Amino acid sequence: MAVKEPDIHIAVELPSTPQQSLVTAIQQNADGQIGVIATAGIHILTPAVGIEYDLASAEPGIVPALQKASREPLKLFRAVADMLSGENMLWVNETLEPAAMALGSIQIRCKDFAWSPSGVSSAGTCLLAILTTNLEVFIYAPGKNYMTGEWTRTASLTPALLASTSAVTATGSLENAPMRRVLQAQTTALSWSGPVRAPTVPSSRDLSLLALGNRAGSVSLWRHGSADVWRRHASVVVGEEWVTQVSWAGWLQIDAQTVASSLACGLSDGSIRLVTVLQKISPGAVGEAQAFLTPTWGTSADSRSLTSLKWIDLQAYPRYVLAYSKPGVFGLISPVGSGLGWTGERRLLLSKQPIHACSSALGTPSDFHYFAVDDALLVTYSDGTVQVVHQLSTDPTLEMPGSPLKPLDITRAMRRVFLQIEGPDTTDVTVMQTVGCCFVSDAVALWSYHTVYPTFLDYHPELSQFTTLTMAALLDLNHDPALALQNIEQLCASDGTQALGLRPRVAQKLISIYLDLEANHGSDALRAGLSRIVEVSVPQWTDAARNRVIPGWRVPDTQENLREQLHVDLIDGADVTLLRCKLATLQLADKFGYSFPDRISLVQSLIIAHIFGVYLYAAADPRSLVTTQDIAFARRIVKISNYLPVSIETTKPLTVGLAKSLNVDLDVTVPAPDEEHKSSATLTSSFDVGDVCVVCKGFIPMTNLERASCEAGHVWERCSITTLPLATPNVRTCVGCSRKAHLPPSEIAEKHRVAHGWFADLVLESVRSCLYCGNHFVRIL
Ligand SMILES: [Zn+2]
Ligand SMILES: [Zn+2]
Repeated sequence: MAVKEPDIHIAVELPSTPQQSLVTAIQQNADGQIGVIATAGIHILTPAVGIEYDLASAEPGIVPALQKASREPLKLFRAVADMLSGENMLWVNETLEPAAMALGSIQIRCKDFAWSPSGVSSAGTCLLAILTTNLEVFIYAPGKNYMTGEWTRTASLTPALLASTSAVTATGSLENAPMRRVLQAQTTALSWSGPVRAPTVPSSRDLSLLALGNRAGSVSLWRHGSADVWRRHASVVVGEEWVTQVSWAGWLQIDAQTVASSLACGLSDGSIRLVTVLQKISPGAVGEAQAFLTPTWGTSADSRSLTSLKWIDLQAYPRYVLAYSKPGVFGLISPVGSGLGWTGERRLLLSKQPIHACSSALGTPSDFHYFAVDDALLVTYSDGTVQVVHQLSTDPTLEMPGSPLKPLDITRAMRRVFLQIEGPDTTDVTVMQTVGCCFVSDAVALWSYHTVYPTFLDYHPELSQFTTLTMAALLDLNHDPALALQNIEQLCASDGTQALGLRPRVAQKLISIYLDLEANHGSDALRAGLSRIVEVSVPQWTDAARNRVIPGWRVPDTQENLREQLHVDLIDGADVTLLRCKLATLQLADKFGYSFPDRISLVQSLIIAHIFGVYLYAAADPRSLVTTQDIAFARRIVKISNYLPVSIETTKPLTVGLAKSLNVDLDVTVPAPDEEHKSSATLTSSFDVGDVCVVCKGFIPMTNLERASCEAGHVWERCSITTLPLATPNVRTCVGCSRKAHLPPSEIAEKHRVAHGWFADLVLESVRSCLYCGNHFVRIL
């Protein structure tokens, strides 16, 4: 099943001196961005798939010599989180004890990193946590452009860790407290949990936790709050040794008030412990966390250091298995209650694959990837080899005659890609040292490597070195329409809502859908399947109606609550998120010759209907104060809602009721002027909403939600959030569809701020991603 000829999509060089292999060296975040570890920071690459804005600043992800004539090269936006800029901790100022010295402080490098779930940063994107060899943790956030701009350091967690007053040991003694305080602040491992939302509380707040393991043998759990404030929510002593590895399992809801997860911790003596973490999701206690050692469970110390530790999601809720590695050994752990066909610990002894002159069985894993279809775990190793564990959920084994996943074949497919990139001079003493790997789909892997010559004794200056990042098909799977459809179906299934997170977002899946569609050009089976999966019809309900069975806020009126509710309805709404996924799929399919033009415009009209449904529900509730505080905007909403190209049944009585109470006459209308290109943004009538041209002070009729033109012919774009004409440079642009919107008032200097009205400003403040396509905004000013 492994591919015979290299099929390379990405081959780029990134500056970095050699790094150790890590299963977290390459990680994709929920916004579809790829983080690649380097000595001096994290390279952040965004594939230009589903992105329209500023494509000129994306570079081809592959050199011309390797490009295929039959396809457009994939382009990449590049950004970087530079770890070298900024202050670092001088531990000697805290204590002179030799045990508290950090060996990596001479030449500080990047040791590991973790992405937050999407929506955690103030701009609505992911945050990045970086662990350095000086044992410090820094948080990075994007500036004005998360795809091409610099990511900057927004917080250091070390001062907060040092400020801790509890310096207790496993036995509870306070012996040698000053040194212990420093050891507790010296972070040696990190892991960010998956997203958690409290479905019982209308809140956009994500309850994910960042776990930090330290040199004193304990783990603390941190959460990012508003205004970049970090708060510790729990800590637990795991042992007396350093915590060298931490990994989160997924969250499970155990009752109406509580969610739970399991944090695996690896210690420097080679033992593994599990920490149970509980969080409250009930209204009065949201986010209260508790952590304790799982008493009945732990592996014993054998003084062989762990090189990796990771929970593997078996994609069948709630099953997880814990994988770990030590030199020459691959281990699996299935705790009691894991729901698998086996429990306990399994150790599998690896044998050497004769692929190049330096093959060994002692490598470090650079990735674990679970193939749900085959129930197999593929492990890529630092020496460029691949191992496959079969029957993961029933009876793990390395031997499985007849399985289509043959480790040696996959290893060879990877090596063929390496030989193609490196050229004809490569011999069997040249080793592709895989630093990290990440499968973007079951068939296609993205990995980074260094070219090394372990048998050469001559000196190679470190400065001339770089990491090569490549993405290529390893398995001959992506020419299978059934598998391609399965991927899209997972995203677009109507029952895809997750209790503790949110509906799956399209960003992370775009690259695999892109690859699947590209590999299946002109397939009738795929066309028929797509047509079925991305079927749309006008629903009876809007998200806002679904969130309130009867119109009325579940929480009474404070501005903060209104903002939260707007976020929940407009950004997180299950129906509107599903429509955004379908829209992105349709638009991508269109590029590969599967076109459904009427479907695209219906989906766009339905998204608009959902957005105005949310505004109407907000205005219709007297406790929200919308109609008293911002009557002009309320009238605008009512008028526009009446003339939308598609309207949803439940919103009609709201429009009529509000029109009556706000004295809006819906009968006097002028037919909409004939537009050359009617779109989903064209309204069915032309009317006055009070918009005035800033140049000639002339009247601007409302005929189209995206464009505004006055009688003298001055043309303006309209804000995609408020529909107000955009006559200001203080705008943000969506990277997915290039629609623009006013900046949130809080992001504009006081003297340049223009008030748009109480409710309009509140909506601008609440919305941090595009309402139409769900992508993030970037700004120029
Ligand atoms: Zn004008
Ligand atoms: Zn957009």
